[in-house]
Amino acid sequence: MTSSKNAFKALFFAQEQIADLELQLLKRKLRATESPCDTISFVDGRELKAFCSNDYLGLANHPELIKALAVGGKKYGVGSGASHLISGHSMAHEILEKELASFQKQHIPNARALFFSTGYLTNLTAITALARLAPEKSTSIYSAKLNHASLIDGIRLAAAQSQASVTLFDHTHIDSLSNLLKADQNPLKMIVIDGVFSMDGDIAPVKELLMLAEQFDALLLVDDAHGFGVLGKLGHGILEQENICSDRIIYIGTLGKAAGVSGAFVCAQETFIEWLIQKGRPFIYSTATPPAIAHTLSKSLEIIEGDEGRNRRTQLNKLIRIWQDEMHFSQWEKMPSCTAIQPVILGSNANALLASKLLDEAGYWIPAIRPPTVPNGSARLRITFSANHSEADLRQLIATLKAIEHEVNEKVVHD
Ligand SMILES: *Cc1c(COP(=O)(O)O)cnc(C)c1O
Repeated sequence: MTSSKNAFKALFFAQEQIADLELQLLKRKLRATESPCDTISFVDGRELKAFCSNDYLGLANHPELIKALAVGGKKYGVGSGASHLISGHSMAHEILEKELASFQKQHIPNARALFFSTGYLTNLTAITALARLAPEKSTSIYSAKLNHASLIDGIRLAAAQSQASVTLFDHTHIDSLSNLLKADQNPLKMIVIDGVFSMDGDIAPVKELLMLAEQFDALLLVDDAHGFGVLGKLGHGILEQENICSDRIIYIGTLGKAAGVSGAFVCAQETFIEWLIQKGRPFIYSTATPPAIAHTLSKSLEIIEGDEGRNRRTQLNKLIRIWQDEMHFSQWEKMPSCTAIQPVILGSNANALLASKLLDEAGYWIPAIRPPTVPNGSARLRITFSANHSEADLRQLIATLKAIEHEVNEKVVHD
């Protein structure tokens, strides 16, 4: 038997820290579903109405996509066998990348796209590789305070690898960003932003940010994880909705949310993509996603851009309007969001957990989102809609939430 005292110190430390998380009501728990991702979930032997996934268009369990996955499996097998640069890059990836680039071609001149297994890896790759487009210590990164963890981690890695300097800014007050950029002498400046903020649901001021990027010679990296598929008439995302075009834009979209499958991509002008292929370490050293997934995604893009996608976006927007008009709380706080992400701020972890538990007892799956995912003191219910929800589903939820708010406020718990 081999063991070392150090290993047991680590074990003791882990047990202690986990117990501490539990005490602070910050311990996270996995729940295994027995059903496909849809508006009804089977979990812990019960049927719950789910208002928590990012499957905004309701495509994750779409019969045509299930069929496309089977066809893709037959045609390409199940594994890619190697990284893209060795032998894992299949015709299915190549076709998908062309289609993804065509979605942004009116917004990024000379657009090319590169497909990744996840959005997390896409952000790590894009930020670290682009930060190397200047000598060490001469890249400045400006990052919105509420950016997604994968952007933050990509920026931290770029700071470690290229000694890039990092400045945080408030995306609701970008005047200060303008002053910072004006004073910045570094040859490479990069503004990094979520298109739709994942825990608040508001949309970034990308038009204004692009003006700043052009004025001060910066790149603008937009992570549109929650906009791709849902924003814009054709579902092409935030650049389509805001009607902007620039060769300074680095666009990131993810494909496991509204697109209903898995994966992500970066779309930018050709030269930047070529640079990522040459220098993007997570891209170079990671096995290519199964081609069958890429094949399925091509079908998903066809649905997004076509009539069915448009109808699904119309339904989603109808649900968002009903929520805005009919959901009134006495103390809980709605956010000024016009997307499918509709958080309800409760403040304390205890209140958020209690509300989530009462919702569970009422047959709903809406987890409590706590720090560090959101700032301290802003624990919340993150409610999300899918085009597969009906108006009746939503009105039932609204009535249930009103009753539960009343019940929670009577108990008033503080952390
Ligand atoms: C979900 C998400 C990601 C990560 O994408 P995955 O494909 O799930 O790894 C990146 N950025 C934002 C804003 C996200 O919400």
